[in-house]
Order: sequence, then structure tokens, then C-alpha cells
Amino acid sequence: MNRQPLDELKQQIPLMGYLQAHDWHPARPLSRGRWMGLCPLHEDHKPSFLVDPSKNLFYCYGCGRGGDVIRFAELYHQVKFPQALALLRQWRGVEPLLHEVSRFYRVQLHRHSEAVTYLYQRGARSPELIEHMRVGYAPGGCLRGWLTQLGYPLQGLRQAGLVTDVGYDAYVRRIVFPLEGNLYGRSLSASAPPHRFLPGAKGGLYAWVQAQSYPEVILVEGLFDYAVLWEAGFHNVTCSLGTHLNARQFRQLCDGPRTVYLTFDADRNGSGQQAAQCLSRSLRERGISTRLVSLPEGHDPNSFFVQGGDARQFQSLLEAARP
Ligand SMILES: [Zn+2]
Repeated sequence: MNRQPLDELKQQIPLMGYLQAHDWHPARPLSRGRWMGLCPLHEDHKPSFLVDPSKNLFYCYGCGRGGDVIRFAELYHQVKFPQALALLRQWRGVEPLLHEVSRFYRVQLHRHSEAVTYLYQRGARSPELIEHMRVGYAPGGCLRGWLTQLGYPLQGLRQAGLVTDVGYDAYVRRIVFPLEGNLYGRSLSASAPPHRFLPGAKGGLYAWVQAQSYPEVILVEGLFDYAVLWEAGFHNVTCSLGTHLNARQFRQLCDGPRTVYLTFDADRNGSGQQAAQCLSRSLRERGISTRLVSLPEGHDPNSFFVQGGDARQFQSLLEAARP
């Protein structure tokens, strides 16, 4: 195999940046610019994962595995070499594009009063929150033009799922939240499907880096639930974007000792509670303590706050949560 494209790919994706984008944190510095941290490839309790950013290599003294960014992608995503290359190429291509897209949508938010009104109705009101969540608005009918003008080829925009096969913006009249490697869009109009993602993984837990350090973490299923809690001062909150956690999100919740307050919707058909109980069992098997938070029937955290609930009342729900 020709080495040159591989070397280029490795140059374009520094191992340290890739690790940090996958929630790895350097724990302590070593000599010659190297770092130690917890191993993301096995259950690690004291830092045994060494990273040498100047050589773009890692080695774990716990599980004995090591190599370059491609090897890391293979092990981390549990895929074979060609798939690891494909994932890395996609990651390299999509990240800068999504960055550009969310910048564009953030500008649009302040130009469209319907978007601001909708956010207000859903309890997302403070400028700090809009900034923290990097909330944007996709009016539709203008993203494609903007990006092609910047030199992004149409084919790439289609592949990323930002433009439909027939050439229209995929996100139309949607509040947009950037995720890691994806984009969540909530429709303003009742006639369109409410939720939209780009094809591909939804990523890890939302804003995990902030929530991770708390001994007690509140887990919600929607970003508007996250928004009202954050705005009410609960910064130990994270969101799984649905009641089904992917393997990565599950691993994140288990990456240290903590209590997880499962705060899924109190649907009338009981599906939120069922999902919470099921997740609670799996977490307990991994030694994580859990509490099931009961909201009034028919409510989710968002509607609870929007319809007048306050931080003190929500705090009482947390305190009343049963194991
Ligand atoms: Zn290891």
C-alpha cells in the first residue's frame, strides 16, 4: 500500500486533537512534551495511557496497546483498518464544514424573529444559554448558496446530508444545535418531522466535558430539556438525544464514580419510564448509582419549567428521586 496518503492523513489529524475531540483528557505532563491520562480503550482507574504529541503516537501500559491515530481509531471504534481510514477521512472533512455551517446558522438566528420567539416559548431565553449551546436557526433556502460561494463543492454538501438529493437545504425552519460531528435541528412547523439529524452517529453525551466533573449528573433526553435546566442553574446536566444511549454515551456515564439522575419524559404510555428503568439496571451492573426522577404525568423537564416550575421545585424532585 502506498504510504503517502496515510502519512498525509496522519499529518492532517494530530493524535492529540483527535483524542481530545473524543473526550480524552491529559492528566499529567511527562518529560519531552508527553502526557499521561486514563486509557479510553479499557477501563482505567489510574492514568496508564501515554501520548507523545510530537511523534503522534500513544501507548497504554495497562492494556499494552499503542500506535498512531489510525490504530487508535481502529481500536476505539472497533473497526478494521479500511473502515478506520474512512472514519478518519470523514472526520477530517466534516468537522470544518460543520463549523462553518453552525457559524452561518448562528448569524441567521438573530435575523429571524420567528426563531427567537420559538426559543422564548421553549424557555431558552438568556443570551448566555444561546451562546453556551451555540444555538442557530436554519431558515432554509440559503445555506447551499452560501457554502458553494465559499468553495464547498455541492457533492460534498450532499454527502454530508446538508443538501438534499434534489439540491435543497436539508434543514428548513429549524432551530439548530451543533453536536460533535452532527447537527440537531428542531422544526418550528408542526407539519415537518420534529427532529432531524445528519446521517451518521449522533456523537457522545451532550456537553459531557462540563458535566463529567460533577459527582451527581442529571441525564435528560432532549436538548430543550437540557436548555431549561442549564438556564435554571443546573450545570451538572447532560443529554443523550433520545432515550436509547449509544455505546459511547454509555461508556461516558460509566467513566467514573457518580450518581446519575435519570430524568426522561413522563409519557402517558410509560415509554420514558421504561427506558429509564432499563438504563438504570445496566448502569447499576457497572457500579454506577442511579435515581429515577418522577416528573408530573405528561411532563418533560422542558414543559415543567416552561409551565412555571422553578429550580427549587425541580430540586425537590431530585431529592425525592428513588433509587
Ligand atoms: Zn489501555
